[in-house]
Amino acid sequence: MRGANALYEGHRLMLPGLKDRARATCQGCRFCVPILGREETRLACLATLDLYLTGEKRLPGELRAIDFILLAGRETLIKATRKVKEERQACGHYCPLS
Ligand code: SF4
Repeated sequence: MRGANALYEGHRLMLPGLKDRARATCQGCRFCVPILGREETRLACLATLDLYLTGEKRLPGELRAIDFILLAGRETLIKATRKVKEERQACGHYCPLS
């Protein structure tokens, strides 16, 4: 029934604030933090760690890779760096920089 209405696509409801969130990417998220390695620096999502996601520990401006590994392990570091995609839409944990 809905498919038969050619105007249906033009009648989407957009909740207040949802438009900005839909446009947001990891780059503008507080959880997106540079991880300093020996040879390179990569962005990682600190929302991967419950410690930062719950606010138990304050989000740093940057974090040394060795500190991250001591905190959560190498596999978690790889997972956190893979989560950040510059062109991808932000996830549900998105928290804008203020
Ligand atoms: S994956 Fe989600 S929480 Fe992590 S940096 Fe991107 S938007 Fe933020």
